[in-house]
Amino acid sequence: MSYVDEVYDRVVNQNPGEAEFHQAVKEVLDSLRLVIDANEEKYRKMGLLERLVEPERIISFRVPWVDDKGQVQVNKGFRVQFNSAIGPYKGGLRLHPSVNQGILKFLGFEQVFKNSLTGLPIGGGKGGSNFDPKGKSDREVMAFCQSFMTELSKYIGADQDVPAGDIGVGAREIGFLYGQYKRLTGLYEGVLTGKGLTYGGSLARTQATGYGLVYILDEMLKHNGRALAGKNVVISGSGNVAIYATEKVQQLGGKVIALSDSNGYIYDKDGIDLSLVQEIKEVRRGRIKEYADAHPTAVYTEGKGIWSIPCDIALPCATQNELNLDDAKMLKANGCYAVAEGANMPSTREATDFFLANGMLFMPGKAANAGGVATSALEMSQNSQRLSWTFEEVDNRLHRIMVDIYAKTASAAERYGVKGNYVAGANIAGFEKVVEAMTAQGI
Ligand code: GLU
Repeated sequence: MSYVDEVYDRVVNQNPGEAEFHQAVKEVLDSLRLVIDANEEKYRKMGLLERLVEPERIISFRVPWVDDKGQVQVNKGFRVQFNSAIGPYKGGLRLHPSVNQGILKFLGFEQVFKNSLTGLPIGGGKGGSNFDPKGKSDREVMAFCQSFMTELSKYIGADQDVPAGDIGVGAREIGFLYGQYKRLTGLYEGVLTGKGLTYGGSLARTQATGYGLVYILDEMLKHNGRALAGKNVVISGSGNVAIYATEKVQQLGGKVIALSDSNGYIYDKDGIDLSLVQEIKEVRRGRIKEYADAHPTAVYTEGKGIWSIPCDIALPCATQNELNLDDAKMLKANGCYAVAEGANMPSTREATDFFLANGMLFMPGKAANAGGVATSALEMSQNSQRLSWTFEEVDNRLHRIMVDIYAKTASAAERYGVKGNYVAGANIAGFEKVVEAMTAQGI
């Protein structure tokens, strides 16, 4: 049996019930076969893959908090410190009822390679809780965040582990978490990223994931004889990534015609009015349905059908496994030729294989959404220097980083004879740096 298959079997047997983690490991290892087969003896001897698929540490804790009725609630809290070969653990915190250890291990595993690809000195981690912020008051969210940080604070630090936002964690939550960290430790340090601008946050961090996604999309299109201007773009989601991807697509002359949330999607043939979306999602914390109530040209449809809308370019920016094989076929049949992932693993394995087999341009999340964490690393640099760079400076660096990720991804694919396969390219380029750093540091 090949080394890859052996290690994959081991992951499935030793981590029962963690379907998303198995899926992520399989996708990465399969696309690394060329590299691993060529170095099999060496990698086996050093237990490389066995070490790579096992998190260095998982912290799991109880999160008790008091709701507005005076009732005590208890949630599960986690931090997966996956790999610190390249730098301090870095990666977001997710608050969503679906969160469990397996999902955080999948996200942490992906984060290791993504962070490596950025070229910046950050290891990989992920954390979160099954707490559902939806419908909670500000006070309830604060109570939860303070309790969560009371435990987490023992295991993180500016040079140790630096969490940030993810689904369900934005500026409000980062503020509550940071305040509690400072209260408990007395340290005013860059222990979290995505902070507010008045207390050490970086300009352009809010926009970074969405902007970065469109920068690398633009780069991929250009290198394949296409252009973004004048094209119809469908974006799923309506959170931070989707909103700033929409803004950048519009700035570069593309037309975003649809957005969604977990209840349904809006289609606006005239192009999305972004300020209305921002008012609904960022100010009112409302549902995307309200867009159609306020906008005469828009149609709201309940359910998951956003990928049935004909478009040139699709940007899945909601959550894992939101785009399956049927969706992929529908996109292709309706003329879509490029897909770039703003979310983490939004396309199923079957959908990804379909895109690649059918000559569509496909940029995986690991490369495409790396602009968020890359800008987090720029926030860490600014915090260490006790300086704040201008919006333009951060945005220019982000742009350069995304262009560089495209180049690394494309050239790794070419080097291994799979030109245009950016899934393999991103995994190989990310993997090579982690392996070198792990090897250098011994067992
Ligand atoms: N949650 C984001 C991601 O998936 C950002 C993480 C960070 O900034 O540390 O990469």
